[in-house]
Amino acid sequence: MKEKELKYFKKLLTSWLDDLLTHADSTMSGLRESDEALPDPLDRAVFDSERNFTLRIRDRESMLIKKIRKSLEDIEEGVYGTCESCGEDISIERLKARPVTRHCIRCKTQIETMEKLTGT
Ligand SMILES: [Zn+2]
Repeated sequence: MKEKELKYFKKLLTSWLDDLLTHADSTMSGLRESDEALPDPLDRAVFDSERNFTLRIRDRESMLIKKIRKSLEDIEEGVYGTCESCGEDISIERLKARPVTRHCIRCKTQIETMEKLTGT
């Protein structure tokens, strides 16, 4: 990958990460503020399900944060944009659509087909 492209993805991933981290902070403080004693069991149930929902989003966000951090490491090591399975270059178009991807479209399709076949 050209240096210009690496810089582009580094900037993209860094600002994405910043966004997520800022957002994660506000989700956390939102949880704390509303975490009061709710005497009504129905209120409590609604609050619990809302909180579970928030925690699920946060789980997904922290997964994404890990992936972005890994991609940024790859950029530093100069291996960003290389498919983990076949070692070939991942197309720029694919990386622009999914900057944290670790597989080229061919391998990704194969993995997904395998997952469908094995039911995992
Ligand atoms: Zn591949």
